[in-house]
Amino acid sequence: MEKLKPRCIICGEEKEGLNIKIDNIVTTIRWINSHTIRAKSRGRPVVCRECFPKYYKARKSYEKKLVSYLIIGILFAIFIIVASRARPSSFLFGFAIIVFMFLLSIISYVPSVETKAAGAARQAKTSQTNGYKRGRHKT
Ligand SMILES: [Zn+2]
Repeated sequence: MEKLKPRCIICGEEKEGLNIKIDNIVTTIRWINSHTIRAKSRGRPVVCRECFPKYYKARKSYEKKLVSYLIIGILFAIFIIVASRARPSSFLFGFAIIVFMFLLSIISYVPSVETKAAGAARQAKTSQTNGYKRGRHKT
């Protein structure tokens, strides 16, 4: 892997912080960006300590948005399938709506970060740093 300077995705400054998890969506967004205007925004995406509360809020609101979008999409799909008396084409249409709602949610996509627990585990596998959790996983 190439060595890149860490760059906070919230404030845009070169600072150390929590690494952003590079998932499929991040890869796709990066690919799109590299083919459009923002090609120069290079660096390893992180969230710095100062920006973490802000980031955390954004991430939570994105997660909520994704869930509600998907629920709306699924309800719509069910409605269409029922209303058309389960015609085969209505399943395809319903599926397309769910995909569309998912794509809509990606507009406000906020990537997840590698948790400190995971990062620390890589450095020192012995220490038991379970204090830092993502919240929704219960202990
Ligand atoms: Zn920052």
